[in-house]
Parts: sequence; C-alpha cells; structure tokens
Amino acid sequence: MFEQLFTPHANSDPNVPTIRPRKGVIIGAGQVGMACAYSLLIQNCLDEMVLQDINTDKVEGEAMDLRHGVPFVESTTIKAGTVADAGKDADLVIMTAGAKQKPGETRLDLVNRNVKIFKQVIGDIAKYCPHAVLLVVSNPVDIMTYVSLKLSGFERSRVLGSGTVLDTARFRYVLGEKTGIAPRSIHAYIIGEHGDSEVAAWSKVNIAGMSLGNDSEDSEKFAQISQEVKNAAYEIINRKGYTSYAIGLGVTDIVQAILRDQSRILTVSGYIDDLYGIKDVCLSLPTVVNRQGASCTVKLSLSQIEEDKLRHSAKVLHEVIDALDLE
Ligand code: NAD
Repeated sequence: MFEQLFTPHANSDPNVPTIRPRKGVIIGAGQVGMACAYSLLIQNCLDEMVLQDINTDKVEGEAMDLRHGVPFVESTTIKAGTVADAGKDADLVIMTAGAKQKPGETRLDLVNRNVKIFKQVIGDIAKYCPHAVLLVVSNPVDIMTYVSLKLSGFERSRVLGSGTVLDTARFRYVLGEKTGIAPRSIHAYIIGEHGDSEVAAWSKVNIAGMSLGNDSEDSEKFAQISQEVKNAAYEIINRKGYTSYAIGLGVTDIVQAILRDQSRILTVSGYIDDLYGIKDVCLSLPTVVNRQGASCTVKLSLSQIEEDKLRHSAKVLHEVIDALDLE
C-alpha cells in the first residue's frame, strides 16, 4: 500500500562499504535490564537493541513500549528475541538476568540461583555471539563475571562486570555533596568487591590535583562516608525493593566506552591474574575500557591499609569461587 510512495534507486553501487550497525542484546528485561535499555536508547548507544527474557510476554511488551518512543530519539531498532536469532553476532551482550536481593539479603546470597541461570545462557552467547564483549550486571557481579569468563571461554578482556562503577558514582556523589564540587570533577574510586567488602581508596581521592584523603579511615567522617556508600543499595532496596536508574546510567557509561572505543578509566570488574598478591579472581580496579572490553588494569599505589583491605575483599570472593560448581 505504501510502496508506490517511494521510488527505489536502481543499481546501488556494490563497492560502497556498508556501515556495520552497533548491535547489543540485553538479557533480563527486569528492573535493571529495562533501566539499561531506556538509558541506552535515549543516549543513542545502539543501532539495534534486542531484549531477551524467559518471560516472553513481558519482554514483547517492553520492546513494544520502548519502540513507541523511537520517534522522540535517534533511531534504534528494538526487538524482542534471543542471542540465537535477532541478537546473533551482537557486538555486546549485557547480562542482567537473575535473582535480585530481597531486603536483608547480601549480594553473595544470590550466587547459587544465578549460577544456574548463567549455565543456561552463557553457552548460547558464546555460540551465537562469538565476538561479543560480555558485560555482566547480575549479582554478585564479581562472581558472575568470573563464572561468565569460565563458561564462555572468551579471552579475559571481553568479559567484564559493572563492578564498583555504581559504588564509585555513589562515592563521588556523596563527596560532591560534602564539598560543593560537581561529582564529575572529583576523582575517587571504590575498588574490590561490589558488596560488603568493597574498599574506598581514600588515599587516591583528589579534586583538581589536591588530595582529599589520608591513608587511613580512622577519621570518623571518612569511615561514615565509606559506610554510607557501602550501604546505599540496602537503603534503596528497603524502600523501593530494587535499584535501577543509577545502574542503568552506569551501564550506559560502560557501553559507550566500549562501542565508541573511548579508553575511559572505569572501575569495572575484571579478571586479576596477579596484582597486590591477588590471583584468579574478578574484582574492580580502575581499568581502561575500550572496544576490546577491559583492555588493561591500572595498578594504583595504595596505602598499606587499603592494600590489606583489597586482599581481604579478594579473599571473600575466593571463598565463594572455591565453592562454585561450574560442571
Ligand atoms: P528482576 O527480577 O526485575 O529481573 C530479572 C529478570 O531476569 C526477570 O525479568 C526474569 O524473567 C529474567 N530471567 C530470569 N532467568 C532468565 C533466563 N534464564 N533467561 C533470561 N531472562 C531470565 O531483577 P532486577 O532488579 O532487574 O535485577 C537483576 C540483577 O541485577 C540482579 O541479580 C540484581 O542483584 C542485579 N543488580 C546489579 C547491580 C550492579 O551494580 N551490578 C545493581 C542492581 C541490580
């Protein structure tokens, strides 16, 4: 009916190279997956977005709802599907499927439930999207990043977790409130586990080159801020049942760094081979993120106390990894 409105141009030149669309799959169309999808859509990060969920009605509805927003933003093709069909050969797969914390639960409590889900899904990602960068968001994110690395067989740089990107944002936000400086002008990192053993690297906090921290958390004020950052998710979950918007924006930042090859330094979770005496674990340290994924880890010169805390964080994660059944 509409065909006669358009006259096709005959003989398009076969030598004109085609531009590859940026294709991303979001697995898990729950609160986090959809906050990521919405943020990625309005910030024009993908040309093709595929939403995958075991709840097929919900994921169809979510895709329809987002699609109707396309006339308001830069064009993105949005489909409900899987990595095996519409999502095949994606550049990026974002894993948000899985159980979430109930009030009172730690992130580490989720591990067995989410390993089961990852066993169902990661094989398909490796098979149908063999060149993708795999970004893990499901909790406990450091463990699930490690599990994804082992189950996918991908090289290390191509499997990364959102790690403490969100905690670092919370840290910078709180410091911004205390100092009256915009969080974007504050350099500060939360490192280690995205969870209860995370470490605020106070010795590395700086604003315009001025150091803000000292090397201990003896100061009550510093300890209070670290606690506030660490407990932020519990506070939100107690009130609204989940967290979503800030992680959606954080994931978007990581996706932009990857697909636009930005080489940004972000505290994503990546595989640590041998740093500070820490081996064979995934955790967060400042990392250069670009088209290769987590392309290299920055070795911060930490204070002795911070190094000890980081090793403790790795030990907490190791104990969980040692109990994993990945067969
Ligand atoms: P949710 O319950 O709202 O959504 C989870 C979705 O996963 C559901 O739609 C469910 O149907 C889907 N799902 C389950 N099994 C699946 C499978 N095999 N294949 C495809 N989809 C499947 O939960 P949420 O609030 O969106 O949280 C998702 C995860 O993200 C949780 O593990 C949560 O702890 C984590 N999270 C991480 C961060 C972070 O900073 N890394 C922040 C917030 C939440």
